[in-house]
Amino acid sequence: MTLHTDATHDPALRSWVDSANVAGCDFPIQNLPFGRFRAADGGARIGVAIGDQILDLRAAGLAGSDDMNALMAMPPAQRRALRERISQGLAAGSAQQAAWAPALVARAQAEMLLPCRIGDYTDFYTSVHHATNVGRQFRPDNPLLPNYKWVPIGYHGRASSIGVSGARVKRPMGQRKAPDAAAPVLAPCERLDYELELGWFIGQGNAQGAPIAMGEAEQHLFGVALFNDWSARDIQGWEYQPLGPFLSKNFASTLSPWVVTMEALAPFRAPFARPEGDPQPLPYLDSAENRAHGAFSITLEVLLQTARMRAEGIAPVVLSRTDTTRAAYWTPAQLVAHHTVNGCNLQSGDLFGSGTLSGPGETEAGSLLELAAAGQRPVPLPTGERRSFLEDGDTLTLRGWCERAGAVRIGLGEASGTVVG
Ligand code: CA
Repeated sequence: MTLHTDATHDPALRSWVDSANVAGCDFPIQNLPFGRFRAADGGARIGVAIGDQILDLRAAGLAGSDDMNALMAMPPAQRRALRERISQGLAAGSAQQAAWAPALVARAQAEMLLPCRIGDYTDFYTSVHHATNVGRQFRPDNPLLPNYKWVPIGYHGRASSIGVSGARVKRPMGQRKAPDAAAPVLAPCERLDYELELGWFIGQGNAQGAPIAMGEAEQHLFGVALFNDWSARDIQGWEYQPLGPFLSKNFASTLSPWVVTMEALAPFRAPFARPEGDPQPLPYLDSAENRAHGAFSITLEVLLQTARMRAEGIAPVVLSRTDTTRAAYWTPAQLVAHHTVNGCNLQSGDLFGSGTLSGPGETEAGSLLELAAAGQRPVPLPTGERRSFLEDGDTLTLRGWCERAGAVRIGLGEASGTVVG
């Protein structure tokens, strides 16, 4: 486990890239997230975000290839060594400055790509508040099913439709049926929603038939990005029984381009605990280390700007804000241990969606379905517009960051997408 902070987290550390030293910056030298961008020759290059710049790893002599999945699959000790080299080279006063300065690319000019080849994508359901809120919409008399507090619930999603921030998301067609209608119709989705999630990336895989125990689980995690699991609620309500979501989810998902590593998250760990009266995890999902610091404190925020707000020069409004420690019922290590307990093999670049991260409060919900109470309480906007679900032209943005006394704030950047008809 990457439990401890080291010289790369030193709050006094500053970079010769001046923009990385600005207070509140998402990408100070203590962060160093990985992403891929399009190089001048059209190929995909691996970069590390530093302030408003990207360090091209190949141009800086730090990577022999542009294969992010191979980089992610490195043993954790090698990953830490690479992080130390990058940190030392970008630190103020480094002898590398002259050699690395030409390897910088302005982030504003760079076209970002998906961080890696995503092999398989699994979406979990780790917020008990979201599970209860949504369960109440679909099953008023039985909101939380009895397996929830024992099993990290998830389903296998589809990787082909996952895109990177800045995407245009086409409103899907699908089958839906009004409760009082005799038959369903095929029509454009009328209840288009977002889901505020984190995407956890697998680094090292495991062999089929060889489960990953809790003690090793974090060795297999590479890092985290923001993840919007766009959802068609009317299609979902009709199709989800008995096998779960299908076309209501797989038309599009949007990732932020920068993967913040497990190493960078080290200062922002938190204890894992169960509310009083809830069952304790079964032994294969339990460990002293997980209880002590298996959770992560990441502040998450959702912003909306409608086409009219954009036309009138009105800034995006914050729809909700929460913290993962208030929302997640399971830790990332528990997701890895559970996913592999039957012998399922994970591969470098696999993606675990956290599930919608809704906190307990009304302003902490991670979807419009919850914020607007399934259309009964539309969300008012500064233009006088109201939203129960997303409309064409709406731009939805997820943001995330970590803050703690004694540590430098790091950000996850943003995952943004605009709905088109
Ligand atoms: Ca989801």
